[in-house]
Amino acid sequence: MPMKDGNAYRESLRTLKLNVYAFGEKIDNVVDHPLFSPHINAAALTYELAHDPTAEDLVTTTSHLTGKKISRFTHIHQSTSDLVKKVKMLRMIANRTGTCFQRCVGFDAMNATYTVTYEMDQALGTHYHERFRQYLEYIQENDLMVAGSMTDPKGDRSLRPSQQADPDMYVHIVKKNEKGIVIRGAKAHQTGIVNSHEMLIMPTTALSAEDFAYAVACAVPTDAPGVLHIFGRQTNDERRLDGEIDQGNALYGIVGGEALTVLNDVFVPWERVFMAEEFKFAGLLVERFASYHRQNYGGCKGGVSDVIIGATAAMAEYSGTAKASHVKDKLTEMVHLTETLYSGSIACSAEGAPTPSGAYFVDPMLANTVKQNVTRYIYEICRLAHDIAGGFIATLPSEKDLHHPEIGQYVEKYFKGVASVATEDRIRMARLIENMTGGTALAESMHGAGSPQAQRVMILRQANLERKKSLAEKLAGIKAKN
Ligand code: SF4
Ligand code: FE
Repeated sequence: MPMKDGNAYRESLRTLKLNVYAFGEKIDNVVDHPLFSPHINAAALTYELAHDPTAEDLVTTTSHLTGKKISRFTHIHQSTSDLVKKVKMLRMIANRTGTCFQRCVGFDAMNATYTVTYEMDQALGTHYHERFRQYLEYIQENDLMVAGSMTDPKGDRSLRPSQQADPDMYVHIVKKNEKGIVIRGAKAHQTGIVNSHEMLIMPTTALSAEDFAYAVACAVPTDAPGVLHIFGRQTNDERRLDGEIDQGNALYGIVGGEALTVLNDVFVPWERVFMAEEFKFAGLLVERFASYHRQNYGGCKGGVSDVIIGATAAMAEYSGTAKASHVKDKLTEMVHLTETLYSGSIACSAEGAPTPSGAYFVDPMLANTVKQNVTRYIYEICRLAHDIAGGFIATLPSEKDLHHPEIGQYVEKYFKGVASVATEDRIRMARLIENMTGGTALAESMHGAGSPQAQRVMILRQANLERKKSLAEKLAGIKAKN
């Protein structure tokens, strides 16, 4: 089957029998619903760009399984060059969407599962890797969008999965038979899930022997019996239901469109099960996925920041402040922060190395460092955007007021900046800045790909403090202790 384009992707979503709720209602058709269409447009662009000669070098590649041309989003990294191209691709797409295009989570989940199943089979004599390769071939052949499903609701964070008052706080196996397994629980913050074809489920944390039933990795269609999606709210999402300008980025929306996905006794046939009770490998799968996903953030958030910088510079021009030296200095700072993020993503990719499976893995220390930087620098970039844009991004009247037959003239007159720029354009740019720097977008930079503390745990684990101490002791003339 040839790679899908944007329309084929949308049409393929129509064939799914998704069980989606939003705003207290069951949604029969996500594809044409204004609440979802911006997210779908962003994901559709990943399909469209595969057919764009200016983008296909980054967005497509050759399958190592079949030798066929495939979307990079379904690829297993075969070299550091593949890892670098991934980051470049993410920045390029984010430059066009100004927001999350969702398809990377499943991409990372597939790479993590590919590498870990290989190592698991080598250690335990299981046959998960071959199974996963067959699943991957199915994904590549049908050019499917896969959601990466890691985060469990977690209940009482001080307790292990098997100690929870409610055993469903983490996804677990409730039944096994010769045909497959039955799983129960939920996955939270599911980016792009309501417009994905498949979900690739992984454990959310390292597990001990008592937690064996929680060691489960498997693939489930997003419309499988027992799967229910409850769509999350975003800042200003109701604006999608009544107007265009006030949305800021009407075409692509704000971040990914997340949902809580409930798994009510979902049956998974063995050919889609890639870990079942092998608790010792849960931690490795989590770390692989987390590092692959943290690699991305200097790419996609770097690309989003490019747009924020552009919007901020344009706003300064529209308001007549562009020549002020402090404005230039703040823009310089925004660029510096953005390029620092990007450098980290490129570095962790260039320093990648092959895993036993042959697939390449990023440098986990540098990948965690870049994501940790995102949790700070994006806030600073947005703070500077707010500083330069001015307070009116928080007090703007609605587009209905702008177009009102009586009062529209006052909005038009008093929100004017420099004479050469139309008031509506100044308002549009302000709304874009509001959209890109507001609540949901910022929180996603903090917690997407794992909360800051999760990176700090990994950073310290990778730090090799003993080696650093011995470097210092040597220079200080302190004799080795053993
Ligand atoms: Fe991809 Fe970035 Fe969205 Fe994550 S936040 S899915 S890396 S675009
Ligand atoms: Fe994310």
